[in-house]
Amino acid sequence: MSSSSPTRHAVVIGAGIVGVCCAYELWRDGYRVTLVEHASPGGEQAASYGNGAWLSPSSVVPMSMPGLWKKIPGYLFNADSPLRLRWWALPMLAPWLLRFLLAGRSKAQVQVTARALSQLLHDAPERHRVLADAVGRPELIRKAGLLYPYPTRDSFLAEALAWQLRRENGIVWEEVEGERLRALAPDLGPHYRFGIHVPAGGNCTNPGDYVAAIATFLQARGVALKQARALDFARAGAAPSGALEAVLTDQGRIDCDLAIIAAGVHSRALAQAAGDRVFLESERGYHVVFEQPGFEVTPPLMPGDAKMAITSTTRGFRVSGQVELATIGAAPDWGRAELLRRFALNHFPALAGNADHTARIDGTHLPKGLKRWMGHRPSTPDGLPVLGPSQGTRGVFHAFGHGHVGLASAPASARLLADLIRGGPSIFDARPYAIQRFRRG
Ligand SMILES: Cc1cc2nc3c(=O)[nH]c(=O)nc-3n(C[C@H](O)[C@H](O)[C@H](O)COP(=O)(O)OP(=O)(O)OC[C@H]3O[C@@H](n4cnc5c(N)ncnc54)[C@H](O)[C@@H]3O)c2cc1C
Repeated sequence: MSSSSPTRHAVVIGAGIVGVCCAYELWRDGYRVTLVEHASPGGEQAASYGNGAWLSPSSVVPMSMPGLWKKIPGYLFNADSPLRLRWWALPMLAPWLLRFLLAGRSKAQVQVTARALSQLLHDAPERHRVLADAVGRPELIRKAGLLYPYPTRDSFLAEALAWQLRRENGIVWEEVEGERLRALAPDLGPHYRFGIHVPAGGNCTNPGDYVAAIATFLQARGVALKQARALDFARAGAAPSGALEAVLTDQGRIDCDLAIIAAGVHSRALAQAAGDRVFLESERGYHVVFEQPGFEVTPPLMPGDAKMAITSTTRGFRVSGQVELATIGAAPDWGRAELLRRFALNHFPALAGNADHTARIDGTHLPKGLKRWMGHRPSTPDGLPVLGPSQGTRGVFHAFGHGHVGLASAPASARLLADLIRGGPSIFDARPYAIQRFRRG
């Protein structure tokens, strides 16, 4: 641990995976750290609780890809598509959506994005292994690879650009069929006859517990956990050049030298309070958990034609996915979770053996032995997080916008941010994540 800044006080707002990783790195760098969280670290309110649990170096493919715009009308009207746009939210989402589509306007553009994602993801499983060891919970991280099953080899070839981006960023894979595919996924139904195995992938066996474990570890070493909602910042001087004096919360003022905004999808309001304009919206996602599936998937799976992460966790067999563009406060559409349940039942024959699993999920009914969840991916239009200093308040730093890859990329993001705060050389090029990119439109 460095003792370069032993008395400086850093407040980290938000105890999801990104916030606790930032707190961990700042604590290691010798700061006095306070974590401000209005609920509980890794609790159900956080995206970090219910995600697909993938630690995937291959998740370098941005959501917005060339040609996506042609599919938007279908997404508006097809209730079963994996990406759903609630039409009434369109006026509110339009500025973000426009930038989202522009982010995928060309192959060259998505290659740049993929490179920037790769910096954060290429060694994610190893970074998590080291972190889980350090906090005394090594069993929460597994490195058993990841499997992408496809109905046929042709359906894999139809995603040529996605796999080209992966290849260009050093992802190595093995094509699997027949016996080898069955050995990797013995419980998967016969619809899938081809697969891509990425041996370097990993997963977390319980993302919520993992976040809580990191927070507990830090608390035992002097990091304060303050249950409060951060609302604003006190500055000496006005934005855009004022210097931070304190974080203002619903439980009072916390004087500090630094504040890190790591509040997931709620970071936009805090960034605005700091004087920064960001484009950040919720890509809402869902999961269902079959608590007693009777089998495990190792490695975890993501069927190429369904885009769902299917992972065995300590709480059960988790199927997560769906992208729903709507406002943060809109009521969940449990029909999205029902799609996940139905998919799992159709493709994992063993699940149908339990009669409870065959009952529909709807707004009022949750079958026995199933859990459902909705959460908010904190997403920027280009799919890259915002990491670095605020433009509006000196001493405020951003660590949000991790979209689909926040669990995997949190340790590298936190290390990069800590390097930027320290002002020394950083582990890799921080420019792709700078907030200034929103100014460029
Ligand atoms: C369905 C789904 C599947 C996903 N699958 C994967 C996956 O397989 N792999 C992967 O890497 N990523 C995945 N993700 C994305 C990942 O979960 C997120 O990117 C990541 O969890 C974001 O972490 P965070 O810490 O930024 O935000 P969060 O986890 O949302 O945490 C933010 C925290 O800030 C707190 N907070 C908010 N506002 C305030 C305030 N004003 N004051 C104090 N506290 C505040 C909240 O209570 C919360 O605890 C998935 C997401 C979803 C929804």
